[in-house]
Order: sequence, then C-alpha cells, then structure tokens
Amino acid sequence: MRDDAATQTRPVNLILLGPPGAGKGTQARMLEEGFGLIQLSTGDLLRGAVAAGTEAGLAAKAVMDRGDLVSDEIVLAVLKERLAQPDVAAGIILDGFPRTAGQAAALDDLMAERGQQIDAVISLAVEDEAMVARVAGRYTCASCGEGYHDQFKQPAVAGVCDKCGGTQMKRRPDDNAETVRTRLNAYHADTAPLIDYYAARGTLTEIDAMSDIGEVRAGMAAIVGKLTSA
Ligand code: ADP
Ligand code: AMP
Repeated sequence: MRDDAATQTRPVNLILLGPPGAGKGTQARMLEEGFGLIQLSTGDLLRGAVAAGTEAGLAAKAVMDRGDLVSDEIVLAVLKERLAQPDVAAGIILDGFPRTAGQAAALDDLMAERGQQIDAVISLAVEDEAMVARVAGRYTCASCGEGYHDQFKQPAVAGVCDKCGGTQMKRRPDDNAETVRTRLNAYHADTAPLIDYYAARGTLTEIDAMSDIGEVRAGMAAIVGKLTSA
C-alpha cells in the first residue's frame, strides 16, 4: 500500500456506502495509510460526542444504542465541526455518511460552499446475512482504533494490537445481533436509495465486498489510485 502513496498527485473526496459490517471502516483505514486521506466516520464522531457528554452526544446515545439513525441535524453538526479542521485538505473518506437523502443534499451544499466535490462514491456490495456475523465478531484496539474480528481478522498475537501493541480491546454496545437487524433495516430504508442517487450522477462504483479483506483492499486501491493520479 505504501507504493500507492508515492503515486498520489491530488487529494480526493470519497464516500464509502454500505450496510453495517460491509467493511467501510476497515477499508477507510487502509486508504488513509495508503493514500494519505482522512477517514471521517460519523459513527466515530458521534461516539466521541457521547463519550464527551456533549449535548449532541446526550441526544444521540439512546438512538445509537437502539440502532436507529440519529437526526440529520445532529449528524451534520458533528460533521461540520470536524470539517473545520485543516487536515481534511488532504482529501476525505466519508465512512457512514451520508445515510439519508437529506444528508446527501446537505453534503452537496457543503461541498459547493467549500468549492469542492465528491470525486467517487464506492458502494460495498454484500449479503445482509453475512453482516450479522461480521458485526457481532467485531472489536477494536482501545488505544489506536485498529479493527479486528474474532474470525476474519485476528491480531498476530492474541490480545495484542498489531499496530500499536495495545492490549486493551473493546466492543461496541450496539454490535449485537438484535441491533444489527435494526441497523440493516435502516440501511435499506434510508441509505440504499443513495446508490441510485449517485449512480445517476456517474460517480458510483460498486465493489464486491463479500471477498476477503485483502481482495477488497486491492480493488479499492485500484479505484482510488486511478483517481489520485488522474
Ligand atoms: P463497517 O465499518 O462497514 O461497519 P467494518 O470495517 O467495521 O464494517 O467491518 C466489520 C467487521 O468485519 C470487522 O470486524 C472487520 O474486521 C470485518 N471485515 C471487514 N471486511 C471484511 C471482509 N471483506 N471479510 C470478512 N470480514 C471483514
Ligand atoms: P456506525 O459507526 O457507522 O456503524 O454508526 C453507528 C451508529 O451511529 C448508527 O447506528 C447510527 O445510530 C449513528 N450514525 C452514524 N452515522 C450516522 C449518520 N450519517 N446518520 C444517522 N445516524 C448515524
């Protein structure tokens, strides 16, 4: 992946679309490393707000625990705050945003205000049933956030993070089979229609995300490599 970084000539702004467990976070972190882009996960931003006990976090917590969608207003507020930081000039990978038609329209306005555009929307195509096992087996390093899976992505040494050597691993309270079903329903009702929205603009690329992590990564790198060197 390091070789890809050498070919980067311009920052790009990407959206990763896909249901919970599709691999958006996993792939976004790899694209960060390989292409110097910045991952913006609205889920992470909201979890940060919950942990900090902000007004937005307090309002979002119960909704997130249920697996429903947080209001567009709150999500846009945390995203705008993050976009005000200068590092995003390197190019962004939106992970988990937009999730509704309202958010997609707001993103269009936001990009226009910034004199920028979304260069590509990558839709990670998966089968719902496989997502329950992916999400239920997910855990992350509490120090650096690297993601792992009980079955599909284990650290080289059990309990020790490959990236930072951390030994504290954590699981999300909403990563249980029941909540995943609610989240999948929310995806199909509110987010999947965005596939057509972006396809109509010619910015959509679909990738088979049922194959293993390395294969998906290679497909992603090919798509993003073309964009950054264009
Ligand atoms: P998302 O951000 O789309 O919700 P994640 O990237 O967190 O999904 O992936 C969910 C879980 O599935 C993680 O534990 C991750 O290690 C694992 N995973 C990601 N991509 C794949 C894949 N292609 N095959 C198998 N497991 C995967
Ligand atoms: P994620 O980390 O992407 O799996 O998101 C976790 C939870 O945060 C979701 O189930 C929602 O409750 C909330 N969330 C994250 N991003 C959004 C968004 N763009 N719109 C609405 N809710 C969101």
